[in-house]
Amino acid sequence: MSTADQLPPFDPADPAGIDDLLSQEERDVRASVRQLVDQVAQPHVAGWFEEGRIDDPRGLMRSFGEMGLLGMHLEGYGCAGMSAVDYGLACLELEACDSGVRSMVSVQGSLAMYAIWRFGSEEQKQEWLPRMAAGEAIGCFGLTEPDHGSDPGGMRTRAVRDGDDWLLDGRKMWITNGSIADVAVVWAQTEDGIRGFVVPTDTPGFSAPEIKHKMSLRASVTSELVLDGCRLPADAVLPEVRGLKGPLSCLNEARYGIVWGALGAARSSLHAALEYAGAREQFGRPIAGFQLTQAKLADMTLELVKGQLLALHLGRRKDAGTLRPEQVSIGKLNNVREALEICRTARTILGANGISLEYPVIRHANNLESVLTYEGTVEMHTLVLGQALTGHAAFR
Ligand code: FAD
Repeated sequence: MSTADQLPPFDPADPAGIDDLLSQEERDVRASVRQLVDQVAQPHVAGWFEEGRIDDPRGLMRSFGEMGLLGMHLEGYGCAGMSAVDYGLACLELEACDSGVRSMVSVQGSLAMYAIWRFGSEEQKQEWLPRMAAGEAIGCFGLTEPDHGSDPGGMRTRAVRDGDDWLLDGRKMWITNGSIADVAVVWAQTEDGIRGFVVPTDTPGFSAPEIKHKMSLRASVTSELVLDGCRLPADAVLPEVRGLKGPLSCLNEARYGIVWGALGAARSSLHAALEYAGAREQFGRPIAGFQLTQAKLADMTLELVKGQLLALHLGRRKDAGTLRPEQVSIGKLNNVREALEICRTARTILGANGISLEYPVIRHANNLESVLTYEGTVEMHTLVLGQALTGHAAFR
C-alpha cells in the first residue's frame, strides 16, 4: 500500500490524472499545438476580439498549415493523417486560446476540406486539398441560410443546369471564414435533391460581405454568401453524395472537434479563476479561502474532468471506427453546455474584473454562446438524443 507521499503529486492542471490515459505521442502533439498557439495567437487574441478583426488571418492559417493542423485527421493530399484523439487535443488547445481561432481551423479541416476529401472527385481533391492543408487556400462551408438554420432541408439556394454548366442562386448566412475564403463548399437544391458545389470565390456573381455587430466569436470572420447567377462548370458538383446526409456528415466531423474544443475555453476560464481567487483578497483573506468560492472551483473542476473523460472516450471510439452520430451529440450537448456554465461561474469569481477583456473569461463565455448554437443547437442535439432513446422523432 502506498502512502500519500509516495503518490504522484496532485496537479491542479490535471486534477484527476487523465493524462495517464494519453500516450507520450499524444502529449507531444498537445504540447506542440499549445506552443504554437502561445506564439501566433494568444498574445493578440484579446485585441482581435476587442477590434472584431484578426490582423492577418491568411498568415495565421498558414501557421496552422505549417504545423499540420488543417485537415490533420485526414489521410493523403498533404494532410497529416493524425488520429481523432490528436485532432481533439489540438482543438482543445486552440479553443483554450479562443473559440474563434478553433472555428477557423475546424471549418477549414472538418467542414470544407472534409467535404471535398470525402465526396469530391479526384480532380477536386488534387486541386484544393494540398493547398488547403498548407493554409495557402482558405475554405468555407455554406449550409445555413437566413430562413433555414436548424432545418437546412428547407434551403432555397438552387442550382439548375444550363447546358453543361450549373447556375447557382441564393444566400447563405453566418458562414465562418466566408469573406477570406478562396473556395466555398455550397449546398443547394437541385432537381436531384441537395448537392454540394465547389465554388471558387472569384466566380462572377459570388460575394461574401462580412457580418458585423457580433458580440461573440469576434476573433473570427463570419459572413453572408451571396450567389447571384454564379456559373459553374459541370464538374463543380461534389459527385459522391446526394441529399442532406452530405452536409450532415461534415457537421458530425466538426461537432466532434467541438466536444474537445469547448473544454479548452472552460479550462482557460477555470485557471483564470483559480489564479484570481488566490490573489484577490476581501475581508482580509484571499477569496480562494472562502467555502463558497471553493465550492464553485470544485464543481467547475468536476465538470471539466467529466467532459475530458467523455471527449477522450468518444475520440477512442472515433479512432476505432465505432463512434455513432448520437454519441457525438451527447458530447457536444454536454461539453458545450458545461463549458459555458464553467465560464459563467469563473466570471462570478472575478467579480467586476470578470467582465474585462484583461481576463479571458468573458470572451470565452461570449464565444461559447455561438458554440452552443452552431453545429446543431442544444435543442437539436437534445432531440437527436431523445429520438435515439425513445424511437420518437420530435423535430416537427
Ligand atoms: P434557428 O434554427 O432559427 O433556431 C432558433 C431557435 O429555435 C434555437 O434555439 C433552436 O434550437 C430552436 N428550434 C428550432 N427548431 C426547433 C425544434 N424543432 N424544436 C425545438 N427547438 C427548435 N452555418 C454554416 O452553414 N456554416 C458556418 O460556417 C457557420 N458558422 C457560424 C458561425 C457563427 C458565429 C454562428 C453564430 C453561426 C454559424 N453558422 C454557420 C450557423 C449555425 O449553424 C446556425 O445558426 C444554427 O444551425 C442555428 O440556426 P439558426 O440560427 O437559423 O436558428
